[in-house]
Amino acid sequence: MTTTTECPVCGMPVDEQNPGATASFDAQTYLFCSESCRDEFLADPGRFVGNTGS
Ligand SMILES: [Zn+2]
Repeated sequence: MTTTTECPVCGMPVDEQNPGATASFDAQTYLFCSESCRDEFLADPGRFVGNTGS
């Protein structure tokens, strides 16, 4: 059985065992469908994690 999560950038399902890319932010590891989504996430993480503290 394959476990999937959602790419926080585009919402596509991501295979947790074989993600297209990963990044660590705010003590969490995020999984992405592709390196381009990771790059977009890293350009402005707060936009995707919804944790700006405001
Ligand atoms: Zn994506």
